Amino acid sequence: MDAEVAIIGVGTMGSMAAWQLAKQGVSVIGFEQFGIGNDRSAAGGESRLFRTAYMEGSEYVPLLQQAKQLWRELEGESNNKLLTLNGGLMIGESDSKEIDTILKSINDFNLEHEILEGDQARKRYPQFKLYDDDVAILDKNAGFLRPELAVVSAVQQAIKHGTIIKNHTMVENISQDEKGVTVTAAGKQYRVEKVLVTTGAWTRKLLPNLKDQLIPRRLLLTWFAPKDISNVLPGKLPIFARMRGDFRLTGAPSLDGSMVKASYTKAPQYVNDPAELYRDVYPEELEKISQSVEALLPALLPDPVRASVYMDAYTPDNHAIVGELPDMQNVIVASGFSGHGFKFSPMIGKIISELCINGKTDSNISYMNPIRLFGEANSFK
Ligand SMILES: Cc1cc2nc3c(=O)[nH]c(=O)nc-3n(C[C@H](O)[C@H](O)[C@H](O)COP(=O)(O)OP(=O)(O)OC[C@H]3O[C@@H](n4cnc5c(N)ncnc54)[C@H](O)[C@@H]3O)c2cc1C
Repeated sequence: MDAEVAIIGVGTMGSMAAWQLAKQGVSVIGFEQFGIGNDRSAAGGESRLFRTAYMEGSEYVPLLQQAKQLWRELEGESNNKLLTLNGGLMIGESDSKEIDTILKSINDFNLEHEILEGDQARKRYPQFKLYDDDVAILDKNAGFLRPELAVVSAVQQAIKHGTIIKNHTMVENISQDEKGVTVTAAGKQYRVEKVLVTTGAWTRKLLPNLKDQLIPRRLLLTWFAPKDISNVLPGKLPIFARMRGDFRLTGAPSLDGSMVKASYTKAPQYVNDPAELYRDVYPEELEKISQSVEALLPALLPDPVRASVYMDAYTPDNHAIVGELPDMQNVIVASGFSGHGFKFSPMIGKIISELCINGKTDSNISYMNPIRLFGEANSFK
């Protein structure tokens, strides 16, 4: 055996799994087609938002609370600042589904928050335009992560504990037999007991049997120059999700003292083959995002000063796939984080390391069970 566990794809989830496994003395070999911390993976773009009052469903709250502890552990071990909790402001129409779900997660778990209405919100957060039917919710356990540094920090810790990383090495094939799994990478074969597939948007290329369960999406990030930089620094501007009708902006305060990240995240754009991702920007998407900024975020000048294109794998219900697939013993997949997985990635690393070592986890991940997506009703078919 070359190692007990092979990790295919050392991006977000792969790096966290390597850290968790290596800490427990498991021998790991990790394969990454690009470099570690590369910005072609879903971890590129300078910041990721961390929220606890969760519009994607209150079932995530325990995962998020435990992820926060693990982020602090990784910070302690690596001596790098990764998570800054400067608050999260969610603004939307008071009768919208998103606001409803955020409030449900607050009530279900008694989360620390403030609700601001009308002039109170306008006075405290003049960066945003608020309409009379809007409500603003401040999540006290929210802020921003530094994704590239987080991936690099986790991998450095894993290497310290003996993990071998093969970067710039693409895995071409995996095949199982009764004694283990063979991984073929750059023409060479490696024998391991178990495999973790954490290949993000590239997953269905490696596992074509997931083509109806996972699809990559193109996601555009944009940055804007502020009218007054002092209003958009982390002490003044929380991370935000500003939702109204067809407009939806999510973003972070200025981390470099010059630009603010605010991205339009409504219209899905599917990518059949990651190699064909269009990395430039369409004029019509710029127009839409400028209109959103003009309507909702008057603290910014509406022409983006920077734009970058990324991908993430999506499932039909926007919950990930975590676990063994039918007919694929000793191969555990963690993919399809549908645009919101970074914040809880250390917990996914922990969970898949538990699945590898013990064959089970105490965390509730029933909503990520791959089986739910096999069958016409819940797949992309
Ligand atoms: C633009 C954007 C903004 C986002 N914003 C947020 C946010 O604010 N908050 C949040 O929580 N989440 C956010 N997300 C979601 C989050 O970043 C992703 O869900 C998460 O990073 C996905 O991690 P992953 O490990 O599945 O994929 P990745 O991080 O992409 O890792 C997959 C890795 O596998 C490698 N790989 C693929 N195939 C092979 C192969 N055959 N051989 C070797 N290596 C291979 C790839 O090169 C890559 O490094 C955002 C995502 C995007 C794209």
